[in-house]
Amino acid sequence: MKRRDFLKTALASAGLMAAGQETTTAKKKETFQEDGKFVTEPTKQIPILLRTDVLVVGGGPAGTAAAIAASRGGAETCLVERYNHLGGLWTGGLILPLLSTHGLGRDGKTTRVIRGIGQEITDRLKEKNMVIYERNPLVDPEAAKYMLDRMIEESGVRMVYHAWATGAIMDGRTIRGIFIESKSGRQAILANVVIDCTGDGDVFHWAGEKYREVQHRICLPRRFGNVDTIDKNAPGYTKQKLGWKTPTPNTYVKWEGSSSGPKSSCLDVMNLSKLQVEHRKAVWEEYEAIRKTPGYEKIFLMDTASQLGVRMSRVMEGEYQLTLEDSMTYKQFDDAIGMSGSWTSVPYHGGKIKSNDRPFWQIPYRALLPKHIDGLLAAGRCFSFDDGLVEDARVIGTCIVTGQGAGAAAAVAIKESNTPRHISRHALRQLLLEQKVLLEA
Ligand SMILES: Cc1cc2nc3c(=O)[nH]c(=O)nc-3n(C[C@H](O)[C@H](O)[C@H](O)COP(=O)(O)OP(=O)(O)OC[C@H]3O[C@@H](n4cnc5c(N)ncnc54)[C@H](O)[C@@H]3O)c2cc1C
Repeated sequence: MKRRDFLKTALASAGLMAAGQETTTAKKKETFQEDGKFVTEPTKQIPILLRTDVLVVGGGPAGTAAAIAASRGGAETCLVERYNHLGGLWTGGLILPLLSTHGLGRDGKTTRVIRGIGQEITDRLKEKNMVIYERNPLVDPEAAKYMLDRMIEESGVRMVYHAWATGAIMDGRTIRGIFIESKSGRQAILANVVIDCTGDGDVFHWAGEKYREVQHRICLPRRFGNVDTIDKNAPGYTKQKLGWKTPTPNTYVKWEGSSSGPKSSCLDVMNLSKLQVEHRKAVWEEYEAIRKTPGYEKIFLMDTASQLGVRMSRVMEGEYQLTLEDSMTYKQFDDAIGMSGSWTSVPYHGGKIKSNDRPFWQIPYRALLPKHIDGLLAAGRCFSFDDGLVEDARVIGTCIVTGQGAGAAAAVAIKESNTPRHISRHALRQLLLEQKVLLEA
């Protein structure tokens, strides 16, 4: 036996190795079973990494807001994120504008409706000159990652980075926690309330909640640098589309163009793999074509997003399905958790209503509550809404509002020793008002 193996065996038999750490020598003999379609995973004991009041899965705009709201509401909170940063598509995905901050009131005046944590993030970025525009502010991704880390830390959230959630731990129809996979192996996190902020509804899917899949175009966002060097007087100059200005000097960000794919599923890993290769090639070819254009010789491709631009996937079947009709008619909900605005025109009753003419709209708590599973909430681009509302429900402003609503509700559930389904709506309202959320206007 080699010295290293001897030490491992000795440590393991003395119980001195960390929980979950495997030794090559101590491994039990397993029988390999497959039937042509499936392999059977042997039963095994999974170490518990931690127990918490509230567990938020996914640190995008929704998950970050949910974790901050829950922790500030007094609940011990843990946030699990598979990548190395917060902000999800907003930052790592290079989707920089926080849309839907404003909407039209009954008095015909445009009002800012995204307040609370959404406003706090952009106000703090403004202090650092890392955001441009008042309405639908566009942020610098690195500054936003930094600021979200600060806010999570200041709120006392326990952050677990570099860990994929891989399954739900169920007790009948009640969720008790999740399994994660990381360099530390497979571990369990137990919680009284779990909030699914994976964007793709991974957790409610594993838990057995009903949902539908909405497919959308998938793309690869990228940034171009040196835009101040463009020479419009160069002989042969023709305007190239480089996207939108960002707070980063001389930098534009672009999503569509040559890397805009057709509607397809992000739930198929082989499709994602194929799209990744195709989009990277398309972006590179686009870049080479731009550089060959007279006047654009010094443009460089600064970066591509660390994740594909997935707009939609699973949408949960909630206690209430919010509709486009609700959003167009100032529908009032007695369990409103916040409001969102508009950013695009929509087809409505045979016509097209322009963004500036669209009402702001309320979001009810019941749209975050799964219909069947207990102990669970969903926020972000997978909460419960109809197809007409997809373009508005999935944007970052709405995601932050639903995240804060879910986090605050989870904190109330902990305070009341209750399930999210049965919490006092009055207590939720009070907490959200304390957290500076605009519930009605
Ligand atoms: C091309 C494109 C353009 C867009 N343009 C705009 C725009 O201009 N303005 C706007 O407001 N919105 C825009 N959107 C929409 C917006 O970016 C997203 O809908 C929004 O970021 C969704 O927020 P979320 O928190 O629900 O999910 P996400 O941003 O997707 O965040 C989910 C987080 O969960 C993590 N996660 C996922 N699964 C797991 C798991 N199993 N384990 C652990 N962690 C996990 C992810 O890594 C990620 O951090 C655009 C989207 C795309 C794709």
